[in-house]
Amino acid sequence: MADDADVIVVGGGLAGLVAATEITDAGKRVIVVEQEGEQSLGGQAFWSFGGLFLVDSPEQRRLGIKDSFELALQDWMGTAGFDRDEDLWPRRWAEAYVAFAVGEKRGWLRAMGHRIFPVVGWAERGGYDAMGHGNSVPRFHVTWGTGPGIVAPFERRARDALGNGNLVFKFRHRVDALSITGGTVDGIAGSILAPDDAERGKSSSRNIIGDFALRAQAVIVASGGIGGNHDLVRQNWPKRLGDPPKSMISGVPEHVDGRMIGIAEQAGARLINRDRMWHYVEGIQNWSPIWPRHGIRILPGPSPMWFDATGKRLPSPLYPGSDTLGQLHYITSTGYDYSWFVLTQSIIKKEFALSGSEQNPDLTGKSWLMTARRATNKGAPAPVEAFKSRGADFIVRDNLADLVSAMNALVGDDLLKLEHLKTQIEARDREIENPFVKDTQVMNIHNARKYIGDRLIRTARPHRILDPAHGPLIAVKLNILTRKTLGGFETDLDGRVFGRDGNIMPGLYAAGETAGFGGGGMHGYRSLEGTFLGGCLFSGRNAGRAAAKAVG
Ligand SMILES: Cc1cc2nc3c(=O)[nH]c(=O)nc-3n(C[C@H](O)[C@H](O)[C@H](O)COP(=O)(O)OP(=O)(O)OC[C@H]3O[C@@H](n4cnc5c(N)ncnc54)[C@H](O)[C@@H]3O)c2cc1C
Repeated sequence: MADDADVIVVGGGLAGLVAATEITDAGKRVIVVEQEGEQSLGGQAFWSFGGLFLVDSPEQRRLGIKDSFELALQDWMGTAGFDRDEDLWPRRWAEAYVAFAVGEKRGWLRAMGHRIFPVVGWAERGGYDAMGHGNSVPRFHVTWGTGPGIVAPFERRARDALGNGNLVFKFRHRVDALSITGGTVDGIAGSILAPDDAERGKSSSRNIIGDFALRAQAVIVASGGIGGNHDLVRQNWPKRLGDPPKSMISGVPEHVDGRMIGIAEQAGARLINRDRMWHYVEGIQNWSPIWPRHGIRILPGPSPMWFDATGKRLPSPLYPGSDTLGQLHYITSTGYDYSWFVLTQSIIKKEFALSGSEQNPDLTGKSWLMTARRATNKGAPAPVEAFKSRGADFIVRDNLADLVSAMNALVGDDLLKLEHLKTQIEARDREIENPFVKDTQVMNIHNARKYIGDRLIRTARPHRILDPAHGPLIAVKLNILTRKTLGGFETDLDGRVFGRDGNIMPGLYAAGETAGFGGGGMHGYRSLEGTFLGGCLFSGRNAGRAAAKAVG
């Protein structure tokens, strides 16, 4: 039987698009099979904030940040905490990826027209020692144009290849099985789904109108993670993070269903580190949802006070933006699935950013004028103000007594006691007068403001939370929000998938979130952020190039 293409790519997300375009650039023919309609091309990356982990970049240097391969690798290893036999390939991927982030990554993207917002963000700041979790320096480079800006170069290359006949898209084609002949993966089979013009990101129908089978010399699985499937998330939830939350919101569309992972596993592929995942604790329910249970992650600056459901301040160093999984562990240990930020209007205005392309029309629309208002405006950015007035999790009051009673009313109990919160906030407020202090969160605020990027647009001038001049007071109920899958198919540096017997499965490759962003989990247990899109770029590129070479 003749092949339908040289290579089949399963998934039209970022990893799939990168792999496919590397294959067509090498002069080979590729079919991209995608269960959603054409309107959803780009997958999760379209919705993303477009944040990219880069090391020793011109943007960092311009802001006086001294970064290096050695410092970034030290941070990566301290964050990953690799400790298993199966971390062999993930560790190799991590080293190769940090080298990519310090080397080719920026120039490769730039040559395709990709551009970066000049103020570098500082995500996952840690708070432990030099060898512990977190970024020692700011490294989160936001794509000018956010998510759509990172998809665009690859979509353009794919459409060029479509034009010259080297690439074919099969939308509304859902893969249900891999075909294997004589031990080699040589095709796929699946269902043709009914056409559906649901808007991008909205759930589409799963009605089947036919079936299909396609053959090629190699198949690259780039089908994303499991974050949209809460049953799978709970099933894989690690004991070390406590009991799985009863209530979660979704940071990803429903197509991030993990179904293809089960299919490839069934065919013999080896899945490792399935208990490693990256979910956020600063999730808010979207007042204008696109996908089911749609939640948005707040990317907070360092100043909000953080309380658990019982009103106890989170312990040091679990301050906003420090250690996502540390916070998740703490919160699940309280027996409640939520926690609270308490802050002022001055803090929300300067420090709240919302992760997602649609929540950042200034950066997504590439408007310098609108973006400049982040630094100069009296209010918070319009999408944040919209959440403040319409979001189910936001409470705004002029005094603490009213705020606390509204917080209790929102959750329908009286767990929070005014005196308890007041004592803790007043104690913190007494630390504000001096630039040298005992409270480690206030120390962090002073430290952050030494970085010009934070001082400009991310960290409010230290002030008393209970100072009415900085009011009104704001409380935000924070939910657990599912997002990334850190484990995945074990692969070598070419993206070739290992079988359960420990040998490479000829013809099968994996890239992107489905491969744990490389190797089956290049992040280990935790991430430095901005490393997921980058992991799709790097693993998609490696798998695409290797598959193109292998098919001769
Ligand atoms: C709101 C948001 C903000 C984010 N912000 C950032 C950020 O700033 N920085 C960062 O690094 N990362 C960020 N991320 C994460 C990042 O966007 C994702 O991890 C990444 O885009 C995953 O890409 P992927 O190609 O591996 O998978 P996906 O984008 O999930 O694409 C997989 C595709 O495969 C298709 N598919 C699945 N199964 C099948 C099947 N059986 N048959 C056919 N097709 C199938 C799916 O429909 C989907 O289109 C963010 C994510 C979200 C949602």
